[in-house]
Amino acid sequence: MVPGPVVGPLSNYRVELSPVAFVDRLVPAVKILKNRPDPPHAARVPDARKGGFGPDESLVDPNRLAAMLEDTDATYETQCGSWAIFKLCKHLISLTGDAQYGDWIEQAAYNGLAATPPIPTAGNVFYYSNYNPYGASKRDGGAAWSCCAGTRPMALADVCDLIYFSAPDGLCVNLFVPSTVTVGSGSSALSIRQETRFPEAPSTSFEFHCGRPVKQTIRFRRPGWLAGQVSARLDGAPAPLTVDSHGWLVLRHTWRDGDRIDLTLPMGFRSAPLYADKPYPTAVTIGPVTMAFRSDRGNPVSKIGLTSLGSELVPSQGEPLTYHLQSAPDILARPFYAYKEGEEYYMYLDPSALGRISHYHMRTNGPWHDSGNHYYCNVPGAWCEGDFEGDAVTLLGFKYDDGGRGEVQVDGRVVGTIDEYASGRDIPAEWTYRGLGTGKHVIRVTVTNAKAPESKDVYINIAGLRLKG
Ligand SMILES: [Zn+2]
Repeated sequence: MVPGPVVGPLSNYRVELSPVAFVDRLVPAVKILKNRPDPPHAARVPDARKGGFGPDESLVDPNRLAAMLEDTDATYETQCGSWAIFKLCKHLISLTGDAQYGDWIEQAAYNGLAATPPIPTAGNVFYYSNYNPYGASKRDGGAAWSCCAGTRPMALADVCDLIYFSAPDGLCVNLFVPSTVTVGSGSSALSIRQETRFPEAPSTSFEFHCGRPVKQTIRFRRPGWLAGQVSARLDGAPAPLTVDSHGWLVLRHTWRDGDRIDLTLPMGFRSAPLYADKPYPTAVTIGPVTMAFRSDRGNPVSKIGLTSLGSELVPSQGEPLTYHLQSAPDILARPFYAYKEGEEYYMYLDPSALGRISHYHMRTNGPWHDSGNHYYCNVPGAWCEGDFEGDAVTLLGFKYDDGGRGEVQVDGRVVGTIDEYASGRDIPAEWTYRGLGTGKHVIRVTVTNAKAPESKDVYINIAGLRLKG
């Protein structure tokens, strides 16, 4: 018999771990700085297809999402977005009884909340996750005590409330994390202890403790990312699981003290395209974890076959969930949560990113700052240069109300001046130089004292280069 859809967060449960310790266990690969004032860390992307928090903190027309991957470095508001997903999905599970909403909770936990680099004591919490296919890095949130500085501790604490849900006839397991829960009270109390290294290992186990046999139905969320059948063993013997109409895997049993369930949750690589009807842009996932690529030669899209991910990505010894590309071993795939602040990565694979040289692949001299999608500097004499090949190149930047004029040289010869002043801010701009001759060239932009009379400063910014016009 299928119970009704009345499922609620379990009021009498307790987890054995504090939220801080929880994250520690959640992603052991990430060093947790215990006993230090900066909170811990560790993981992905809310799935844009599900109408998540859009770029620039807005809900946008889905057709604009691909373009906005490139236009902004503010792809996902990490802490507030995760917190909102947790609240929304907790209520959706409670109201509908449907397991599917747990998938989004899980994604936000690993790829949002846990993908946060260490927070300095000043409170500059990691704010925006940047998924730009030209290459991106995690960086400090900038302002101390932003909204996300407040939602981060609330979201971390809320994870404890999202592991288990109660059903009229038992317990629902939503998340696969180490924890302990007690169902019922007195002589019919049933204590369940979950032990797991998920997602580093595709399995979890449960140990049951009770004073006398207790009949309870245990349900496990059947994740949308499964790469095969979930199998369960009860005290070592295969146990049949049925699927109910709400997407839970059901096990009914009269539990005795010391009973144990071992659950195998097959994970595999998948391509997760932004749009269901287009192969690109796409991210690579394994289980609930979104991968990001390390590549010294731009977006690695042309080197990765989306239909053969399982054979092309070879496990890297000793590093959980870390893989090298068989055909190009210098290209590394590892969880987005594993990237440290300032490490460049490519999350979305996108052919439109080819022919583009990120600012990260340009050299600087002088006190340039990194905005996440461009370098900027207002010290005259400072320069930024990049290598390219071919007869033409397009220099990419933005216009600002404090933009100045920069001198442009190609191979040491002055070819022009760029004026980055506009009365507005964040206005994309580009300058194309042609007739440079075939072969390799160097383009350099130098900050000068010159500016439009209306400009507030002499800032120059460089977002990268585009080849082929
Ligand atoms: Zn926020």
